Amino acid sequence: MDAKIRLYVDHPLGAGQSVPLDRAQAHYLFGVMRKTVGAQLLLFNGKDGEWRASVAEAGKRGGTLICEAQTKPLQMPPDLWLCFAPIKKARTDFIVEKATEMGASRIVPMQTEFTNSGGFKRERLQAHAVEAAEQCGGTYVPLVDDIARIDRILAGWDTSRQIMFCDETLSVSPAALTLSGATPWAIFIGPEGGFSPRERERLRGLAHATPVSLGPRILRADTAAVAAMTVWQQALGDWT
Ligand code: SAM
Repeated sequence: MDAKIRLYVDHPLGAGQSVPLDRAQAHYLFGVMRKTVGAQLLLFNGKDGEWRASVAEAGKRGGTLICEAQTKPLQMPPDLWLCFAPIKKARTDFIVEKATEMGASRIVPMQTEFTNSGGFKRERLQAHAVEAAEQCGGTYVPLVDDIARIDRILAGWDTSRQIMFCDETLSVSPAALTLSGATPWAIFIGPEGGFSPRERERLRGLAHATPVSLGPRILRADTAAVAAMTVWQQALGDWT
Protein backbone atom coordinates (compact mmCIF):
# COMPACT_ATOMS: atom_id res chain seq x y z
CA MET A 1 0.00 0.00 0.00
CA ASP A 2 1.16 3.52 -0.74
CA ALA A 3 0.85 4.87 2.80
CA LYS A 4 1.61 8.37 1.52
CA ILE A 5 -1.91 8.77 0.13
CA ARG A 6 -4.42 9.80 2.79
CA LEU A 7 -7.63 11.30 1.56
CA TYR A 8 -10.36 13.14 3.44
CA VAL A 9 -13.81 12.18 2.14
CA ASP A 10 -17.17 13.59 3.14
CA HIS A 11 -18.80 10.15 3.24
CA PRO A 12 -19.46 7.45 5.87
CA LEU A 13 -16.68 4.85 6.25
CA GLY A 14 -17.08 1.22 7.36
CA ALA A 15 -16.24 -2.33 6.33
CA GLY A 16 -17.31 -2.92 2.70
CA GLN A 17 -18.58 0.65 2.36
CA SER A 18 -18.26 2.05 -1.16
CA VAL A 19 -17.10 5.65 -1.37
CA PRO A 20 -17.67 7.75 -4.50
CA LEU A 21 -14.93 10.14 -5.60
CA ASP A 22 -15.64 13.59 -6.97
CA ARG A 23 -13.91 15.01 -10.01
CA ALA A 24 -11.10 16.71 -8.08
CA GLN A 25 -10.34 13.59 -6.04
CA ALA A 26 -10.37 11.41 -9.19
CA HIS A 27 -8.04 13.85 -10.93
CA TYR A 28 -5.65 13.76 -7.97
CA LEU A 29 -5.68 9.97 -7.55
CA PHE A 30 -5.73 8.81 -11.15
CA GLY A 31 -4.33 11.80 -13.05
CA VAL A 32 -1.68 13.13 -10.66
CA MET A 33 -0.79 10.09 -8.53
CA ARG A 34 -1.33 7.62 -11.41
CA LYS A 35 -3.27 5.14 -9.27
CA THR A 36 -5.32 2.44 -11.00
CA VAL A 37 -7.92 -0.17 -10.01
CA GLY A 38 -6.68 -2.23 -7.05
CA ALA A 39 -4.45 0.53 -5.61
CA GLN A 40 -4.74 1.02 -1.88
CA LEU A 41 -4.90 4.22 0.14
CA LEU A 42 -6.09 5.55 3.48
CA LEU A 43 -9.36 7.42 4.03
CA PHE A 44 -10.77 9.43 6.91
CA ASN A 45 -13.88 11.57 7.28
CA GLY A 46 -13.42 13.18 10.69
CA LYS A 47 -15.93 10.79 12.30
CA ASP A 48 -15.19 7.11 11.61
CA GLY A 49 -11.41 6.93 12.12
CA GLU A 50 -9.01 5.95 9.35
CA TRP A 51 -9.73 3.15 6.87
CA ARG A 52 -7.68 1.28 4.31
CA ALA A 53 -9.51 1.32 0.99
CA SER A 54 -8.87 0.12 -2.54
CA VAL A 55 -9.80 1.57 -5.90
CA ALA A 56 -12.73 -0.32 -7.47
CA GLU A 57 -13.43 2.07 -10.37
CA ALA A 58 -11.17 4.73 -11.82
CA GLY A 59 -12.40 7.35 -14.27
CA LYS A 60 -11.53 10.86 -15.38
CA ARG A 61 -14.54 12.44 -13.76
CA GLY A 62 -14.98 10.16 -10.76
CA GLY A 63 -14.37 6.74 -9.30
CA THR A 64 -15.25 4.39 -6.47
CA LEU A 65 -13.27 3.19 -3.48
CA ILE A 66 -14.15 0.25 -1.24
CA CYS A 67 -13.29 0.36 2.49
CA GLU A 68 -11.46 -2.75 3.69
CA ALA A 69 -10.34 -2.39 7.32
CA GLN A 70 -10.03 0.30 9.95
CA THR A 71 -6.40 1.32 10.50
CA LYS A 72 -6.96 3.91 13.27
CA PRO A 73 -9.85 4.84 15.53
CA LEU A 74 -11.09 8.43 15.57
CA GLN A 75 -8.63 10.47 17.65
CA MET A 76 -10.29 13.64 18.85
CA PRO A 77 -8.00 16.58 19.65
CA PRO A 78 -8.33 18.34 23.02
CA ASP A 79 -11.22 20.81 23.28
CA LEU A 80 -9.04 23.77 22.28
CA TRP A 81 -10.17 26.56 19.97
CA LEU A 82 -7.72 28.86 18.25
CA CYS A 83 -9.26 32.33 17.98
CA PHE A 84 -7.13 34.63 15.87
CA ALA A 85 -7.36 37.77 13.78
CA PRO A 86 -6.61 37.03 10.11
CA ILE A 87 -3.45 38.66 8.77
CA LYS A 88 -1.87 38.45 5.30
CA LYS A 89 -3.11 35.55 3.16
CA ALA A 90 -0.03 33.31 3.32
CA ARG A 91 0.40 33.86 7.06
CA THR A 92 -3.28 33.16 7.72
CA ASP A 93 -2.96 29.94 5.70
CA PHE A 94 0.05 29.05 7.85
CA ILE A 95 -1.93 29.63 11.07
CA VAL A 96 -4.77 27.33 9.93
CA GLU A 97 -2.34 24.64 8.77
CA LYS A 98 -0.31 24.71 12.00
CA ALA A 99 -3.39 24.89 14.25
CA THR A 100 -4.68 21.71 12.57
CA GLU A 101 -1.36 19.90 12.91
CA MET A 102 -0.99 20.95 16.52
CA GLY A 103 -4.44 19.77 17.56
CA ALA A 104 -6.93 22.62 17.58
CA SER A 105 -10.52 21.38 17.65
CA ARG A 106 -11.95 24.54 16.09
CA ILE A 107 -10.52 27.58 14.35
CA VAL A 108 -12.29 30.87 15.00
CA PRO A 109 -11.29 33.87 12.84
CA MET A 110 -12.02 37.17 14.61
CA GLN A 111 -12.58 40.63 13.19
CA THR A 112 -10.86 42.95 15.66
CA GLU A 113 -10.49 46.72 15.53
CA PHE A 114 -7.07 46.46 13.91
CA THR A 115 -7.92 43.56 11.54
CA ASN A 116 -8.05 44.08 7.82
CA SER A 117 -10.12 41.08 6.76
CA GLY A 118 -10.54 42.01 3.08
CA GLY A 119 -10.25 38.86 0.97
CA PHE A 120 -11.09 36.49 3.82
CA LYS A 121 -12.33 33.18 2.34
CA ARG A 122 -13.62 30.57 4.79
CA GLU A 123 -13.80 27.72 2.25
CA ARG A 124 -10.17 28.19 1.22
CA LEU A 125 -9.06 28.04 4.86
CA GLN A 126 -11.21 24.97 5.50
CA ALA A 127 -9.50 23.28 2.53
CA HIS A 128 -6.12 24.09 4.13
CA ALA A 129 -7.29 22.41 7.35
CA VAL A 130 -8.30 19.31 5.35
CA GLU A 131 -4.91 19.19 3.60
CA ALA A 132 -3.08 19.60 6.90
CA ALA A 133 -5.09 16.76 8.47
CA GLU A 134 -4.38 14.54 5.43
CA GLN A 135 -0.67 15.25 5.74
CA CYS A 136 -0.24 14.94 9.53
CA GLY A 137 -2.03 11.63 10.02
CA GLY A 138 -4.91 13.21 11.94
CA THR A 139 -8.34 11.62 11.81
CA TYR A 140 -10.19 14.84 12.70
CA VAL A 141 -10.51 18.11 10.76
CA PRO A 142 -11.17 21.26 12.80
CA LEU A 143 -14.07 23.38 11.60
CA VAL A 144 -12.98 26.82 10.39
CA ASP A 145 -15.68 29.33 11.30
CA ASP A 146 -16.66 32.27 9.20
CA ILE A 147 -15.10 35.49 10.43
CA ALA A 148 -17.08 37.30 13.13
CA ARG A 149 -16.52 40.44 15.16
CA ILE A 150 -14.69 39.81 18.42
CA ASP A 151 -17.41 41.68 20.34
CA ARG A 152 -20.02 39.27 18.98
CA ILE A 153 -17.85 36.25 19.74
CA LEU A 154 -17.35 37.40 23.33
CA ALA A 155 -21.03 38.31 23.76
CA GLY A 156 -22.06 34.72 22.99
CA TRP A 157 -19.20 33.12 24.92
CA ASP A 158 -19.85 30.07 27.12
CA THR A 159 -17.93 31.12 30.22
CA SER A 160 -17.04 27.51 31.08
CA ARG A 161 -14.50 27.80 28.23
CA GLN A 162 -11.32 29.37 29.59
CA ILE A 163 -9.45 31.90 27.47
CA MET A 164 -5.67 31.99 27.20
CA PHE A 165 -5.31 35.62 26.21
CA CYS A 166 -1.90 36.14 24.59
CA ASP A 167 -0.97 39.65 25.66
CA GLU A 168 2.43 40.95 24.64
CA THR A 169 2.13 43.84 27.10
CA LEU A 170 2.14 41.55 30.16
CA SER A 171 4.70 39.31 31.77
CA VAL A 172 2.59 36.52 33.24
CA SER A 173 4.24 33.12 33.10
CA PRO A 174 2.52 30.43 30.99
CA ALA A 175 2.88 28.28 34.13
CA ALA A 176 -0.36 29.95 35.32
CA LEU A 177 -2.14 27.65 32.88
CA THR A 178 -1.45 24.61 35.04
CA LEU A 179 -4.12 25.90 37.45
CA SER A 180 -7.13 24.58 35.55
CA GLY A 181 -6.83 21.84 33.02
CA ALA A 182 -10.14 19.99 32.94
CA THR A 183 -12.21 22.65 31.17
CA PRO A 184 -12.44 23.57 27.48
CA TRP A 185 -10.06 26.32 26.39
CA ALA A 186 -9.54 28.89 23.66
CA ILE A 187 -6.35 30.72 22.71
CA PHE A 188 -6.73 34.38 21.67
CA ILE A 189 -4.13 35.87 19.32
CA GLY A 190 -4.37 39.45 18.05
CA PRO A 191 -3.56 40.85 14.59
CA GLU A 192 -0.26 42.43 13.52
CA GLY A 193 -1.26 45.68 15.19
CA GLY A 194 -2.29 43.82 18.36
CA PHE A 195 -5.61 44.06 20.20
CA SER A 196 -6.88 47.63 20.59
CA PRO A 197 -6.68 49.15 24.11
CA ARG A 198 -10.46 48.69 24.43
CA GLU A 199 -10.31 45.02 23.40
CA ARG A 200 -7.37 44.40 25.73
CA GLU A 201 -9.23 45.96 28.66
CA ARG A 202 -12.31 43.87 27.88
CA LEU A 203 -10.29 40.63 27.72
CA ARG A 204 -8.39 41.49 30.90
CA GLY A 205 -11.68 42.06 32.70
CA LEU A 206 -13.10 38.60 31.96
CA ALA A 207 -13.04 36.22 34.92
CA HIS A 208 -12.63 33.27 32.56
CA ALA A 209 -9.61 34.76 30.75
CA THR A 210 -5.96 34.29 31.75
CA PRO A 211 -3.55 36.85 30.25
CA VAL A 212 -0.35 35.11 29.25
CA SER A 213 3.04 36.29 28.08
CA LEU A 214 4.89 34.38 25.38
CA GLY A 215 8.23 35.86 26.40
CA PRO A 216 9.96 39.23 26.28
CA ARG A 217 10.00 39.61 22.49
CA ILE A 218 7.01 40.56 20.34
CA LEU A 219 6.17 37.64 18.09
CA ARG A 220 4.44 37.89 14.75
CA ALA A 221 0.86 36.68 15.01
CA ASP A 222 1.62 33.42 13.16
CA THR A 223 4.61 32.69 15.40
CA ALA A 224 2.52 33.58 18.45
CA ALA A 225 -0.21 31.12 17.40
CA VAL A 226 2.28 28.25 17.16
CA ALA A 227 4.06 29.25 20.39
CA ALA A 228 0.77 29.54 22.30
CA MET A 229 -0.47 26.18 21.10
CA THR A 230 2.87 24.62 22.08
CA VAL A 231 2.66 26.09 25.59
CA TRP A 232 -0.97 25.02 25.97
CA GLN A 233 -0.44 21.50 24.62
CA GLN A 234 2.57 21.02 26.87
CA ALA A 235 0.73 22.23 29.98
CA LEU A 236 -2.82 20.95 29.45
CA GLY A 237 -3.17 19.12 26.16
CA ASP A 238 -2.57 15.68 24.67
CA TRP A 239 1.22 15.81 24.43
CA THR A 240 1.82 14.09 27.74
N1 SAM B 1 0.73 45.20 19.21
C1 SAM B 1 2.01 44.80 18.84
C2 SAM B 1 2.75 45.92 18.15
O1 SAM B 1 2.25 46.40 17.10
O2 SAM B 1 3.79 46.22 18.65
C3 SAM B 1 2.17 43.50 18.06
C4 SAM B 1 1.13 42.49 18.10
S1 SAM B 1 1.71 40.86 17.74
C5 SAM B 1 2.47 41.08 16.20
C6 SAM B 1 0.28 39.95 17.35
C7 SAM B 1 -0.32 39.14 18.49
O3 SAM B 1 0.55 38.07 18.85
C8 SAM B 1 -0.58 39.88 19.76
O4 SAM B 1 -1.80 40.58 19.73
C9 SAM B 1 -0.57 38.77 20.81
O5 SAM B 1 -1.82 38.14 20.88
C10 SAM B 1 0.47 37.83 20.25
N2 SAM B 1 1.81 38.02 20.81
C11 SAM B 1 2.93 38.39 20.15
N3 SAM B 1 3.99 38.43 20.98
C12 SAM B 1 3.55 38.07 22.20
C13 SAM B 1 4.16 37.90 23.47
N4 SAM B 1 5.44 38.12 23.67
N5 SAM B 1 3.39 37.51 24.50
C14 SAM B 1 2.06 37.28 24.33
N6 SAM B 1 1.43 37.43 23.16
C15 SAM B 1 2.15 37.80 22.09
